[in-house]
Order: sequence, then structure tokens, then C-alpha cells
Amino acid sequence: MDCDHAYVRVYHYLDGEMTVWKRRAIKRHLDECPPCAQGFDFELEIRRVVAYSCREEAPSDLRRRIGEALGYE
Ligand SMILES: [Zn+2]
Repeated sequence: MDCDHAYVRVYHYLDGEMTVWKRRAIKRHLDECPPCAQGFDFELEIRRVVAYSCREEAPSDLRRRIGEALGYE
């Protein structure tokens, strides 16, 4: 798995749309690739903040803008 694929799949991973074996493949890549692992940790942190501060509305716009800022889209 290369880095581009890892970044795309992290979103699916976070959204719970992945099968177990795909999660393992991503986890393995993150273990071996510090830049991707860093991005992944950052994304998890954003999700925690968003979940805490925006419970009453889906933060899809915020999420999109975060994705753009991170170069995912
Ligand atoms: Zn990577």
C-alpha cells in the first residue's frame, strides 16, 4: 500500500466502512510510515474535537474543509 492509498483509506477507516482485513492493512502501513501515522493521529484528534463541539449537527462542511487543508481532496 502506498501513501496515497493510505490517506484515502484512512477516511473509510474512520467512518467504519472498512472490513477487518483492510483495517489491518492500513494499520500496518501506519506502523511503517510515520508521515501517514501522524496524519492519522491528527485526524482522530479532529474527530474528537468535532464530536465534542458539534454534537447537534453533522460537521460535513468542516470535515470537507479539513480534508482540503490536509490535501486529501
Ligand atoms: Zn504512508
